[in-house]
Amino acid sequence: MCLSKALLLVLNITNFADRTLTLQNLRMSTILIIGACGQLGTELTESLRARHGNDKVIATDVSAPKESLLSGPFEHLDAMDGKRLAELIVKYRVGQIYHLAAVLSAKGEADPMFAWNLNMTSLLTVLEIAKERRLERVYWPSSIAVFGPNSPINHTPQNTIMNPNTVYGISKLAGERWCEYYFLKYGVDVRSIRYPGLIGYKAKPGGGTTDYAVDIYYKAKEGKDFNCFLREDTLLPMMYMTDAVDGTIQLMEEQSSKIKIRSSYNLHAMSFAPKDIYEAIKSEVPGFSISYEPDFRQKIADSWPNSIDDSHARADWGWEPKYDLKRMTTEILANLILD
Ligand code: NAD
Repeated sequence: MCLSKALLLVLNITNFADRTLTLQNLRMSTILIIGACGQLGTELTESLRARHGNDKVIATDVSAPKESLLSGPFEHLDAMDGKRLAELIVKYRVGQIYHLAAVLSAKGEADPMFAWNLNMTSLLTVLEIAKERRLERVYWPSSIAVFGPNSPINHTPQNTIMNPNTVYGISKLAGERWCEYYFLKYGVDVRSIRYPGLIGYKAKPGGGTTDYAVDIYYKAKEGKDFNCFLREDTLLPMMYMTDAVDGTIQLMEEQSSKIKIRSSYNLHAMSFAPKDIYEAIKSEVPGFSISYEPDFRQKIADSWPNSIDDSHARADWGWEPKYDLKRMTTEILANLILD
């Protein structure tokens, strides 16, 4: 074997050993979740604790925790308080941060400056700390709200015209640019997904345009009629929370070299309109009825895609959703417990 080939082999072996070591270290490092009391945080905390051990996952939020979040450490943390975040990183020897706190689309329109300030300041606080303390990984969610009325509406590509017209979408698009910037300029290993509307039954949603698709299951279980704030034919991309949580953990555990997109990955699972979810529920709850009264959220929904092209996520790290509307509906109706 010539010298250069032998050198290449040694380098490859070292590289592989490094990667293996990284994954082992990753499994041992402490995770801190910001915004853990929310719709996504509640389920992500539960799954990460089941995987890594309760004490290895620190749940934080400005809100008081529900009982289920007290299975491991919980700390009060305002996502804009960099000093307190740094203290917690030292206290728990944190290696990874999942930064979920944000003001969502519908709520953001009520106070745009507050939404912009929270969404941007908190992200930049996390990215700066990750850079300074050389954290192993950062996760930050984006949204399909980064697309706007000029984006292709069907099978919306990863790279296309964006032009979002909500403060939430503008903040998510700016956030994506900052994530890529910190990766390219400082080597911060930040990863992100553009979630569609997330549907779960373990925590109530926090002020998004797709919240109706959670509320409708509660009404069906309560035996009440449902009044929908979107038109019956408003087709939107959606995802069951189990798929969202599994996909997020899969992305975070993937080797760095496989992650080709450092802004945020398009992800798709299903698309449906209010009339479709109503029919799916009605087939299991026969007396259920729905009425429609579109409000300001209709305009937001109309600016978003019908469906998403997620071919990059499938090719780069093997993304594949498991739930469609029928399977999700059966599972939620069987497990949703009313307070
Ligand atoms: P949520 O509103 O349910 O939860 C957000 C959590 O952040 C809440 O528990 C809230 O108390 C906390 N929070 C608010 N201000 C805070 C602050 N200053 N410091 C610390 N915590 C604070 O939101 P979610 O649905 O769980 O969304 C989580 C993330 O996923 C967000 O970044 C959101 O933009 C993104 N996302 C969600 C959806 C969806 O359909 N739910 C879709 C796309 C993207």
